[in-house]
Amino acid sequence: MSDFRTAARATADLVADYLDAVPDRPVWQPMDPAEREALLAAPLPELGTALPELVETIEQRIMPAPMGNGHPRFFGWVNSAPAPAGVLATLAAAAMNPSSAGGDHADVHLERAVVRWIAELVGFPHPAGGGILTSGTSMATILCLTAARNRAAARLGHDLRADGLTGLPPLIAYATAETHSCVRKAVELLGLGSRHLRTVPSDADGRLDTAALATAVAEDRAAGLVPFLVVASAGTVGTGAVDAFHPIADLCEAEGLWLHVDGAYGAFGVLDPAIAGQYAGMDRADSLALDPHKWLGVPVDCGCALVRETEALRGAFSLVPSYLRDEAAGELGWFSEYGMEQTRPFRSLKVWATIAHRGRAGIAADIARCTELARHLGELVEADPELELLAPVRTSIVAFRYRPAGASPEATDELNRELPVAVQRRGNVFVTGALLDGREMLRACLLNAATTEADLKLLVDEVRLAAAGLTRHRAES
Ligand SMILES: *Cc1c(COP(=O)(O)O)cnc(C)c1O
Repeated sequence: MSDFRTAARATADLVADYLDAVPDRPVWQPMDPAEREALLAAPLPELGTALPELVETIEQRIMPAPMGNGHPRFFGWVNSAPAPAGVLATLAAAAMNPSSAGGDHADVHLERAVVRWIAELVGFPHPAGGGILTSGTSMATILCLTAARNRAAARLGHDLRADGLTGLPPLIAYATAETHSCVRKAVELLGLGSRHLRTVPSDADGRLDTAALATAVAEDRAAGLVPFLVVASAGTVGTGAVDAFHPIADLCEAEGLWLHVDGAYGAFGVLDPAIAGQYAGMDRADSLALDPHKWLGVPVDCGCALVRETEALRGAFSLVPSYLRDEAAGELGWFSEYGMEQTRPFRSLKVWATIAHRGRAGIAADIARCTELARHLGELVEADPELELLAPVRTSIVAFRYRPAGASPEATDELNRELPVAVQRRGNVFVTGALLDGREMLRACLLNAATTEADLKLLVDEVRLAAAGLTRHRAES
């Protein structure tokens, strides 16, 4: 083991040096073609390699080409910098290497605790066993929607686990156009059919229009269909909009619909008193999916599914063959009875470390800093005659575009479609793009409390410089 100890120390130094150096590097750069090819074509080694050499390869061939999301000027998608405490925890978790399926070992009990912590952080009710860590919100959504689907079938006197979908009338789900694609994927995977996922209009603020939802539900009922699910968002991925939960929950209650909230990106925003008000009623959802690997900075992967009724989830997934019997499992049984995974990674240690390192107060301060930065960026955008803010800044996402005076809508769209990559290639800041109501836009997602106001100023400057470069290039060609 002395080899291991030496290599482990070298790795610790390497990781610390790497994290120290991140802010002084380019945010992202395209990989050197030869380096890329070397990775792609790496031959299967016949003979082993010593640990020190492996560490050296990691240092020289892998770590120089990061995605960029550890950098304070990375504003792309919803990818955060890793919490240092979480980074340390991953090594210890791997050393223990349990399967957190169930049993009487620390990882399993810690997962029960951190799931409760997550529920407490966002103010969601937490019955014993009412949640599970997942690979991300995509998987958490599959779990929650399965529970919702099976409950709807049971209410029709149908045992979905035994009989499948055959014989059921179409079950109808409702979401807005701004809802994340993982919802449609889950609906398709669960055999419900994407044509039965209704797109409900949003209001001018990007929030689900409850009156339109009520009308759609009534129309579907009149047509003999079975409405069963509404998906609301606690922070849409495009603009960070938070739906008005109380009226939606009122309707779901009156109509007997399952209310699922996608809080992957934004649920933790409720920790900032400045914006907490807009989350009122989130705690009335039947299920909430959220991602500790986003705003909390828990190293990927870590999502979480929270449910109001433990049995809804367990009833959908519990299946205990004889070789997995555990008389001592206790009332809640095994985690593998609450989801698809049997052998499960030790995710809870990095969640525990991340939350314990900052405390609730530290996390809340970081979140508040991010929303403050986002509002500041919104002001910079509004103050710039060549930039246009496309949605009010509600959480920590800023949706905007570059709009030079006199440019046609088509030219503006074309320019904004090319802008994200042009900005990224300059290496100084990283933003991504998306479509909003059919218009090309840039979106900056603020997840890193180490970002400064100067970084935001640079973002605006870089967008302008990249746009000038594109315009010049076009004029010359
Ligand atoms: C990231 C995201 C998802 C998907 O979550 P994964 O962890 O990537 O599986 C769903 N909804 C929203 C709003 C997101 O930001």
